Amino acid sequence: PAEHTVRTKPRSGVTVLAGPTAVGKGTVSTFIRDNYPDVWLSVSATTRPARPGEEEGVHYFFKTAEDFDALIGHGDLLEWAVVHGVNRYGTLRSTVEAAVADGKSVLLEIDLQGARQVKEAMPEADFVFLAPPSWDELVRRLVGRGTETAEEQHRRLETAKLELAAAPEFDYVIVNDEVSRAAAALVDLMGLTPRHTA
Ligand code: 5GP
Repeated sequence: PAEHTVRTKPRSGVTVLAGPTAVGKGTVSTFIRDNYPDVWLSVSATTRPARPGEEEGVHYFFKTAEDFDALIGHGDLLEWAVVHGVNRYGTLRSTVEAAVADGKSVLLEIDLQGARQVKEAMPEADFVFLAPPSWDELVRRLVGRGTETAEEQHRRLETAKLELAAAPEFDYVIVNDEVSRAAAALVDLMGLTPRHTA
């Protein structure tokens, strides 16, 4: 998909960033979180076990299947989905509402299924699709990071094909050719001011 970032609706204070596996959603969103103090990057709940170096409450809130069921049952999740066939991931409604009330620019980095649910719940939010420069480059990034088995890579690429076709559902498309440039495009779209450095 081609990049388009011309604003078509008023800013809502909530931006959803989605896009296929390995496109660099995590890198772009942590870059923005670390450099723009007005941004609050949502921390999701997940049933996935923590990877080495991941911290509770920083990368995710790690939940048992039972605890995740309870979050769903209590209506505590703004959206949730099974991602890549195994684990559940969801956005904690109260934390998003608190950040909005606090005047933060909220950024949700979630998968396509979640983005569609947020679109139902909050159609006024800004929906941004992060696209790879090409299919070959996406494959190269996924294989290059080496965190998935060959079978898992295959499964993620199958999902990625379907996800790329969903780009037209989004308000905006940013091509992640280079992280700093893609992040700058998102910053521009979100209307953010950088951290003051004296
Ligand atoms: P990972 O396991 O690599 O941290 O994340 C796998 C996928 O889960 C990523 O595509 C990420 O966007 C997605 N994801 C993370 N948090 C959420 C969430 O709260 N909701 C949904 N729907 N997807 C999420």
